[in-house]
Amino acid sequence: MRRKLFVTLLAGVTIAVATGCRGPAPAAVADAIYTNGDVVTIDDAQPSAGAVAIKDGRILAVGSRDSVERAHKGSSTRVVDLAGKTLLPAFLDPHSHYINSLTVAYQVNVFAPPAGPGKDVEAIVAELKTFRDARQIPEGEVIMAYGYDETSMPGGRMLGRDDLDKDFPSNPVMVGHTSLHGAVLNSAAFKKYGISAATKTPPGGIIVRKKGSNEPDGLVMETAWLPIFGSLPKPTPEQEVEWTKAGQLVYAAAGVTTAQEGATHASDLAIMERASAAGANIIDLVAFPFIVELDEIVKHHPAGTFGQYKNRFKLGGVKITLDGSPQGRTAFFTTPYLVDGPSGEKNWKGELPFPEATVNAWFKQVYDLGLPLNVHANGDAAIDLLLRAHEHAAAGSLDKDRRTTIIHSQFVRPDQLDRYVAYKMIPSLFTEHTFYFGETHVRQRGQEQASFMSPMRAAIDKGLRPTNHTDFNVSPIDQMVVVWTAVNRVSRGGEMIGKAQRVTPLEALRAITINVAHQYFEEKTKGSIEVGKLADLVILDKNPLKVDPMTIKDIKVVETIKEGKTIYTAPVR
Ligand SMILES: [Zn+2]
Repeated sequence: MRRKLFVTLLAGVTIAVATGCRGPAPAAVADAIYTNGDVVTIDDAQPSAGAVAIKDGRILAVGSRDSVERAHKGSSTRVVDLAGKTLLPAFLDPHSHYINSLTVAYQVNVFAPPAGPGKDVEAIVAELKTFRDARQIPEGEVIMAYGYDETSMPGGRMLGRDDLDKDFPSNPVMVGHTSLHGAVLNSAAFKKYGISAATKTPPGGIIVRKKGSNEPDGLVMETAWLPIFGSLPKPTPEQEVEWTKAGQLVYAAAGVTTAQEGATHASDLAIMERASAAGANIIDLVAFPFIVELDEIVKHHPAGTFGQYKNRFKLGGVKITLDGSPQGRTAFFTTPYLVDGPSGEKNWKGELPFPEATVNAWFKQVYDLGLPLNVHANGDAAIDLLLRAHEHAAAGSLDKDRRTTIIHSQFVRPDQLDRYVAYKMIPSLFTEHTFYFGETHVRQRGQEQASFMSPMRAAIDKGLRPTNHTDFNVSPIDQMVVVWTAVNRVSRGGEMIGKAQRVTPLEALRAITINVAHQYFEEKTKGSIEVGKLADLVILDKNPLKVDPMTIKDIKVVETIKEGKTIYTAPVR
């Protein structure tokens, strides 16, 4: 050990002398050098490397092991033996609902397998009971679950209020829909939120009624759900820091060091800012406040303050939501669904909750403020509307580099992708739908449209820089599943959904690294392993470029590093 130290010291001295002879500045001594594994840089100029040196939270050198160690290994340098594992730039999340991560630890996971235990109505109710009993939740207290997916309920047997009332007569129970656009409520919850047979369904909303009656059946969605969603319990000031750390660890465990809060209410923004000021953040957060609260938010956060990190938190721009979800049949299409609407409507195309003039005015307001815009649009009619709104608001500078990002763009048409190119828009796709909802989309939209959903191949071939997201907690944060779905497009049932839209593993990785950095105007500091960029890194147990593509989803995150500091280490198994 002493001998090793001596050699290291000598090497350090040699470097200083050597560089001292050649130039004015001695080569910087690295804090750490990662070597002896694969390095996938996501930098086309140097796709792989033998070693990566970091210093003061940034990448100092990328190159062969010999050259990096010779130039930058000093007595204080920590040499990290990757032992055959793979180093990549840390992942960036192009769209999720970060604020939900603060509470999922305190809610019931009822995702359908493999993401959760909710395989049928009985399993969901059993899971809720286990949760209540284990935590000894008192009568009257709200119980929340997330991940309910009626499309994967066997035999089309849906969860309703009656299923919940039996075991939960006195706790309001809300089982969140996997789209995040609604929930199934029990009778105690309907009572708490004042919804009854006498309640009219608001425009753009859904209150599913019992057959042959006006009694709510359980599922409430879109504008009927929003007021309830807005009044859900928030953490106390004491809980904020604790919940923040727990939530961010969910991202860190998936190798993500930049997360999005993709539809931020003013109250959530306040929580994020307080927790940020208290130093709770271990990763970077980018928030997109909702357009409807923009007037209020710019009073305290002028447009000029957007785009700058403070305590690892920045306002990235503004969020507009146009339609619902295709699996929930609330996405807005130019052509009818092949099945009835959520309340049994015939010839159902979905609908927009807002008039076109409102949408046009929103785009104009955001563009005039010079702020980046993220727009949620799934159906092709919603995308037509947003393209018209862009043409209205951006007249005279249609192709300015605004990085307007169309969140989901799931059922974008080829001609619409051409306009994304012309308007320098970014599609943030959601290829996980090919797995989670593949069969549902084939049934509801037909084979041809389903095959072109989240068309990453077409987007790349047209010259776009697509990103790819989980929409957490619509689906769990698992970046290897994201990559796996973009590469394979295999459904739950084992069908390939749109073979022609598959991409290479490297392209799929770009959609969760460098392309996301570009989406956030952060491509100079993040998204690839290049000298000068932040040392935001992830170590995987296998190389996604080398394994059998069908096994990419089984690759595990071993360690996550934010600006040179390890923020997550996988438990030893
Ligand atoms: Zn979302």
